[in-house]
Amino acid sequence: VHKISSGEFGYKIEGENVSDEVQELFDSFNDMSARLNIYEEQNIEQITLERNKLEAVLMSIVNGVVVCDNNDNVVLLNGHAKELLELEGDELLNTNIQQYVDTEGEYCFAEKIDEYKNLSMEEKSSKPIIFNVTIGGRILKSIISPMYTRNHDYVGYIIVLIDVTRETEMDLMKSQFISNVSHELRTPVTVLRSYIDTLYNYGEEFDLETQKEFIGTLNTEIVRLNRMVNDILDFSRLDSNAKIEKSENDISQLVDSCVSQVEVLLKDNNLKIDIQKDNEFPLLMFNYDAIARALTNYLSNAIKYAPKDSTITVKLFNEIDKNQVTVTVKDEGCGIAPEHQKKVFERFFRVENKIHSVKGTGLGLHLVKTTIEKHHYGNVFVQSQVGQGSTFGFSLPVDLSKLDCVEDDLV
Ligand code: ADP
Repeated sequence: VHKISSGEFGYKIEGENVSDEVQELFDSFNDMSARLNIYEEQNIEQITLERNKLEAVLMSIVNGVVVCDNNDNVVLLNGHAKELLELEGDELLNTNIQQYVDTEGEYCFAEKIDEYKNLSMEEKSSKPIIFNVTIGGRILKSIISPMYTRNHDYVGYIIVLIDVTRETEMDLMKSQFISNVSHELRTPVTVLRSYIDTLYNYGEEFDLETQKEFIGTLNTEIVRLNRMVNDILDFSRLDSNAKIEKSENDISQLVDSCVSQVEVLLKDNNLKIDIQKDNEFPLLMFNYDAIARALTNYLSNAIKYAPKDSTITVKLFNEIDKNQVTVTVKDEGCGIAPEHQKKVFERFFRVENKIHSVKGTGLGLHLVKTTIEKHHYGNVFVQSQVGQGSTFGFSLPVDLSKLDCVEDDLV
C-alpha cells in the first residue's frame, strides 16, 4: 500500500504459505495495482497528446506568443515570437521579460508590464494593455492579457505580438492621401472661383489677350480637377471585382489619340513627344477608355516630371514571341530611387509625400496597374535611374486564349 500510494503502480505482492483468505486479498490487491498502472499509462499518453496538440497550436499561430509567469519569467514562447523579437534561440526562456532589450537597446516591454501589473484583477481581465513596439524596423502591436488556470487562479500573463508594419504604413499613406486630396480639391476650386469672379465683375476692363489667358488658366484647373475626380471614381470601380467590358480595338490609334490629347500640356515647358511605332499591330481585346486613361496617366506623369526643353519618347512595339504588345513612355526627368520603384504602383504611395513638392493623390499608377494587370491580364513595369529619367510601360496580351489565368467569360 505504501508503494502504491507513492506512485509505484503495478507493484505485485507475492504471498507464500498464506491462508486462502489472505491470498484472495493479495490477488485483488494485485489486480487493483495492475489496473492503476494501465490507467496511469493511458493518462500519461493522454496528457502527452493534449500537450502536443497545444504545442502545435501555439507554434502554428501566425502571431508571436510569449507566456510569462507571475514573476515575469518567460515560460513559453513560439517560433513567431522568436522571429519577431529577433532572437537566435531560446535565450529568452526562463529570463525576466522586463529585461528584454530591443534592437534599439531599449527595455521596450518594461514600462507597459509595470502598468499592467498595477491594474486590479478586474481591470486586467476587462481591458488588455495594447501598445506598439518597433523591433528591427518592424512595428509590433503587443497585447498583454492575463492567464488563469481552469480553477480561475491567476498564474501570469500572455503577450501576443502582431506584425502591423504594413497596416501602419497603409494608415499613414491613407491619411496623407486624404490630406493631399482635400488640398488638391480645394486649390483648383479656389482658383476657379477667383478667376470667374474677376472675369464676371471686371471682364471688360481686361484686353482680349488677358481674358484668354484667364480662360486658359481656368481650363488647366478644370482638367486637373477632372483628372482627380476620375481617379477617385475609377479607384472604387476598378478596385472592386466588377468586370469591365472589352472589345476589339486598335492600340496604335489609341496611342496617337492619347498623345494628341496631352499636347496642350507640352507648351509650358517646351516639351516634345516623339512617337516610335512598329508598322503593324493586331487588334487587341481591351476597354478603350480604361487603357487610354492608363496611358494618359503615364504621359501626364512624364510631362509633370520632365525638365524644360526635353523630349518624351513613346514607343509601341510588337512582341509576338511573348504574345504581347508593349507601350513605353520615357522621360528625362528626376528619376525614381530603386527603393521607391517597387512601391510606385501601390495605392496612395507618393515619393513626394515626404517633401510635398509636386501635387498628386498617389492613385494614378495604382489605377494603371489595376487596369492592366487585374482587368486585362497584362503587366506594368518601370525602369528608372535617379537624375537620368524614367521609363514606364505596360504590355497587353495579344491572344487571351493562350493565357492560363483567363476565365472563359472574359476572353
Ligand atoms: P500622383 O497622382 O500623386 O502623381 P502616381 O500614382 O501617378 O501619383 O505616382 C506615384 C508616384 O510615383 C509619384 O508621387 C511620383 O513620385 C512617382 N512618379 C510617377 N511617375 C514619375 C516619373 N515619370 N518620374 C518620376 N517620378 C514619377
